[in-house]
Amino acid sequence: EKTVKQIKNLEKAGCEIVRVAVPNEEAACAIRKIKKKIEIPLIADIHFNYKLAIQSIENGADAVRINPGNIGSELRIKDIVNCAKHYNVSMRIGVNGGSLEKDMMLKFGGVTSDALVESALKNIAILEKFGFENLKISIKVSDVLMTIDAYRKLSKLTDYPLHVGVTEAGTVLSGSIKSAIGIGILLNEGIGDTLRVSLTGDPVEEVIVAYKILSFLNIRKRGVELISCPTCGRTDINVVGIAESLEKKLSYIEKPLKVAVMGCVVNGPGEAKEADIGIAGGKGVGLIFKKGEVFKKIREDLLEESLIKEIERMVNEEKILE
Ligand code: SF4
Repeated sequence: EKTVKQIKNLEKAGCEIVRVAVPNEEAACAIRKIKKKIEIPLIADIHFNYKLAIQSIENGADAVRINPGNIGSELRIKDIVNCAKHYNVSMRIGVNGGSLEKDMMLKFGGVTSDALVESALKNIAILEKFGFENLKISIKVSDVLMTIDAYRKLSKLTDYPLHVGVTEAGTVLSGSIKSAIGIGILLNEGIGDTLRVSLTGDPVEEVIVAYKILSFLNIRKRGVELISCPTCGRTDINVVGIAESLEKKLSYIEKPLKVAVMGCVVNGPGEAKEADIGIAGGKGVGLIFKKGEVFKKIREDLLEESLIKEIERMVNEEKILE
């Protein structure tokens, strides 16, 4: 029930694929129940135990994330492959700096981008040997530059889809920055087919950050993008408070919309011309503007409320037009 609740919250935030850890048989069996209550594809995350991979697939997992190198004998890998083929289930080879095979560590003197790439290629070869190509690959470490280096190298050596992310990136603030740099650079180079932002925090935050990365790279827009000024000696309203409050209150909107909060009427509307709608503070009064043009003059204490009403009206009107 708790996992379903978490996944439903992620779906609401726009998550399109979810991975759950399967540490034991009970978890593998729970997949059947979870699948009935969720809409998005579910990936079972397996470490070491091939039986759990098979049980997860039999219970309805849409994909399994494994490391063939960690599963043990090739017979066991063959069993997983046969089961995945039978159920038409894909696999993600998830190479991780923290669980890199010992032989790779010895060969490359520790966790390096070359070691990660070679481990991925080795794991791909194991599955290809059994005629399995329904794959995607990830190679993750918490070091941003090593992550970028490894994915760049791997993307030149394989055509399989790549799942990108910086793993164990940290708390919401530093993890978001690490992810934005790592994932952002890779996506901007055309590397990466799915992505995960890994944060120590509410998983919903991961999806929000992921959409921001996609949005700022002009790959995919979703929800409100806030444009707000840094404040200065001309600031006439509580820009910080209003911007933070709006981000929360408007987070339910899925439609892409640029909303500006600017501190003064002198520069505000002009500097935020690209915003669909915004406010600029004045002495006791403020302006609501649309695409840089003044739309309404409003009493300062009613500014935020009036802006929200106008945004809701715009979103609803566009819904009717759709
Ligand atoms: Fe200052 Fe106005 Fe620019 Fe905000 S919009 S930083 S208040 S000049």
